[in-house]
Amino acid sequence: GNYTREEVLQMAEDEDVEFIRLQFTDMFGTLKNIAITARELPRALDNEYVVDSSYIAGIAGEKEPDMYLHPDYNTFTILPWRPQQGKVARLLCDIYRSDGTPLEKSPRYILKQVVEMAAKEGYVCEVDPECEFFLFHTDDNGIPTTLTHEKAGYLDISPLDLGENARRDMVLNLEDMGYEIESSHHETAPAQHEIDFKFTGANEMADCVMTFKMAVRTIAKRHGLHATFMPKPRAEVNGSGMHIHFALYKDGKNIFADPDDVNGLSEDAYHFIGGLLAHSEEMAAITNPLVNSYKRLVPGYDAPTELTWTKNNQNSLIRISNLRSDSLAIELRSPDASANPYLVFAVCIAAGLDGIQQKLYPTKASDRSFSESDQKAMNIGNLPLNLDDALTHFENSTWIQSVLGKKFCEEYAAAKKEEWLNYMRQVSEWEISQYLYKI
Ligand code: GLN
Ligand code: MG
Ligand code: MG
Ligand code: MG
Repeated sequence: GNYTREEVLQMAEDEDVEFIRLQFTDMFGTLKNIAITARELPRALDNEYVVDSSYIAGIAGEKEPDMYLHPDYNTFTILPWRPQQGKVARLLCDIYRSDGTPLEKSPRYILKQVVEMAAKEGYVCEVDPECEFFLFHTDDNGIPTTLTHEKAGYLDISPLDLGENARRDMVLNLEDMGYEIESSHHETAPAQHEIDFKFTGANEMADCVMTFKMAVRTIAKRHGLHATFMPKPRAEVNGSGMHIHFALYKDGKNIFADPDDVNGLSEDAYHFIGGLLAHSEEMAAITNPLVNSYKRLVPGYDAPTELTWTKNNQNSLIRISNLRSDSLAIELRSPDASANPYLVFAVCIAAGLDGIQQKLYPTKASDRSFSESDQKAMNIGNLPLNLDDALTHFENSTWIQSVLGKKFCEEYAAAKKEEWLNYMRQVSEWEISQYLYKI
């Protein structure tokens, strides 16, 4: 919606809203909120609500810990899974200091800056993610497991697909909230599902992805299931990605298509691909932020490893999708849904536009995987092998600092380094089984 203050107040009253949740996203893509009663809504709309940021990742560390929540009126929506009497609504918020300046490190702010920068050059970038997730059972104590008794695969239907009702409920709830869902299906692995969105502006879509994850988790729980966006919960089957399709417009026209080109691509499209390829290693710590993210990015499980682009190779990083010229889009296949959507869209759009600005060209397209020697000869790289590798690229990148801000990058890298070191201090089952007896 495109709401005024009065309209928000009116809707809250008409709908008999009793609680409002003021929500925002931290550095790692976790949704946070405080709840207020309807009586306090006018104060909230006047930006008078404060949170103590001391414990909030990426928001803490300012001189004054109190941060002001500025609700975005357009994000007002009822949470349809909450009671129908005394309803609960939410507003997504931007974060400001007491002196009225926006917090530059806030992910929602970072994305807005990139979208604005693009607009100044005359570009509108629309995005369309595909979010995959697993629906697992919980044990007798309600603790999530990685177990399922379903055996369904790609596009299977019930009774094989035991998550069908949960998935349907998720889609209906999101539609109720005003989000347009394109489709949903059972994915390749047992208990794996996917919900697809429709192209829209990056700011709106990032809000939508945050809302989507909250809805999926909540509704799964109602169905007695545990939803997880963990990139690779089970080693022996596909992991969950968040492929993102990008379409670029200038003066209302899709500028990726050129019917005279052998691949149907414009110069701008080649450059956009070139930019994504050139920056994908530096962006990996954002697009694939967890230790576990890199367990998904291995050969054999429909996830990308090589820095290549194609029209259909499942191993390559970038694929051309929607070949019709009015909807021609470029699909980036590395991101996973554990990532912070604001940051992912920000770095990807900035990378593509940097490609256009610098007139970068991608390597030759391929419809097959390259052998290692081919890859060497053609100077084709791979995505980082692990989080540590990704952080090295991230920390050495002045480009990523120009997109996300120096302060943000320092805090992010420090927190992620700690995560990596924590992981390295563990001794895994695999190590025991490999080494304990033999060595
Ligand atoms: N799950 C795969 C991944 O990890 C994607 C499968 C697909 O949608 N083709 O990216
Ligand atoms: Mg998929
Ligand atoms: Mg779609
Ligand atoms: Mg895809």
